[in-house]
Amino acid sequence: MKCPNCEKGELAEVNDIVNDLDGYFFVVKGKRCGVIVEKNLLEKKKAKE
Ligand SMILES: [Zn+2]
Repeated sequence: MKCPNCEKGELAEVNDIVNDLDGYFFVVKGKRCGVIVEKNLLEKKKAKE
C-alpha cells in the first residue's frame, strides 16, 4: 500500500509507532511510511547541529 502523504513510500503495518506530541509520547498501532521516518530522522539530526 502506497503512503497517501508522500506518495513515495510503502506503508508497513506496525504496532510500535511513537508519537511525540508536546513532550508526551504515545505508542500506537498503525501504518508507518518508511520515507517519512527517514525524513523525520534527518530533520532531527539537522535540529541538533
Ligand atoms: Zn510517506
